[in-house]
Amino acid sequence: MDLRFTPEEAAFRQEVRDFIKSALPADIRDRMKLGHAPRKEDTVRWQRILNQKGWATYSWPKEHGGPGWSAIQRMIFLEENLMAPAPELLSFNITMLGPVLIQFGTDAQKSRFLPRLANLDDWFCQGFSEPGAGSDLASLKTAAKLDGDHYVVNGSKIWTSTAHNADWCFLLVRTDPNARKRQEGISFLLVDMKTPGITVRPIISIDGSHHLNEVFFDDVKVPVNMRVHQENKGWDVAKFLLGNERTGIARLGKSKERLRAAVDMAKQVNQNGRPLINDQTFRQRVAQLEVDIKALEITQYRVVSAYDKAKGAGKPDPLSSVLKVRGSELQQYTTELTVDVAGPMATPIWAQELAALNEPDDMLEAASAGTGSYLFLRAASIYGGTNEIQKNILTKAVLGL
Ligand SMILES: Cc1cc2nc3c(=O)[nH]c(=O)nc-3n(C[C@H](O)[C@H](O)[C@H](O)COP(=O)(O)OP(=O)(O)OC[C@H]3O[C@@H](n4cnc5c(N)ncnc54)[C@H](O)[C@@H]3O)c2cc1C
Repeated sequence: MDLRFTPEEAAFRQEVRDFIKSALPADIRDRMKLGHAPRKEDTVRWQRILNQKGWATYSWPKEHGGPGWSAIQRMIFLEENLMAPAPELLSFNITMLGPVLIQFGTDAQKSRFLPRLANLDDWFCQGFSEPGAGSDLASLKTAAKLDGDHYVVNGSKIWTSTAHNADWCFLLVRTDPNARKRQEGISFLLVDMKTPGITVRPIISIDGSHHLNEVFFDDVKVPVNMRVHQENKGWDVAKFLLGNERTGIARLGKSKERLRAAVDMAKQVNQNGRPLINDQTFRQRVAQLEVDIKALEITQYRVVSAYDKAKGAGKPDPLSSVLKVRGSELQQYTTELTVDVAGPMATPIWAQELAALNEPDDMLEAASAGTGSYLFLRAASIYGGTNEIQKNILTKAVLGL
């Protein structure tokens, strides 16, 4: 395979870069440049701008409003968006539920939800994991009992990212507790978060942020027409969705952007009386990260374009587990680098002292946001399927062990 981009692909990258540069609101870009996570309003505002351009639905088929891009173009777009740095599209809407509805939804579900997913008029969250059902998702217990034209849902979910921001939740429930195989008694429902009986309780993570939640369902009524695909066939939907979840999960653009920011900071930070950027050991560490990022980038383009050509969309590609494992490791290594460069500025107590000594505010803010990312991204090797589970997949499906 030729590992160079074609002139058309290079021109496409320039077009995407130019558009993002001109259309991304300055206040959002400034916050993101300092390393902050986007606010809910930032994500909504940016996704709507991209939707107007026809790019929010970057991975959907053309007949459902997608731009008709190749796999390589999709990767270029994701990378440029992260490097801008701009907020990511809401993956629950775009990479997860949208393709699910296109594949399994009724006409009524498609026409009601697809435009709203694209424009982020409805913010969805993912209600899969439960206490005792994470890696072993098929052991989930939240129950839905059919009662006339609706289901009655009882149980609880955990680690539900952004449930407190969400208008809707896509939920895995057990509809047949007596099924022969655990996977056969599960259904996939769309639940309006305003329905009586739903309680969202925050989980504050180690970085001090509120991203995660527990969600409790107490006699929650869900109309039958909000079930996607057949009753007890929700596991097929979940497998399809989890395959798509790993698309772009390497978040290489983000690692590149973090590395760039750490190098910028290293030009301003002094160590032993000279800028850290001149330190030989530091330069080697940066060079190694650049090499690792480049290697994964090439792997990513190879995996994604081979998958696209094989028209395997829908079935998870076991090789995407490599992207998940390595991509999450690189996210962790680059945030470790940021914290090391920031040194004393990385801890809030020292940051206050340093502010009094007139260290630049921007650098202190970036250092503190960097510490937050470092702490939060310990979870990158857990969410989206833990790295141990990805390695199990690789040993079985790829190495044949
Ligand atoms: C930040 C964050 C955001 C999340 N967001 C969501 C969300 O929005 N929606 C949602 O539904 N879930 C979400 N999750 C949950 C996530 O999917 C689960 O945490 C994950 O699947 C692991 O499940 P668990 O936490 O129950 O751990 P367990 O499955 O109990 O695993 C515990 C440990 O055992 C290891 N392990 C388990 N089984 C095996 C095995 N067979 N072989 C080898 N090792 C094994 C795991 O790798 C892990 O190290 C989120 C999690 C985090 C941390």
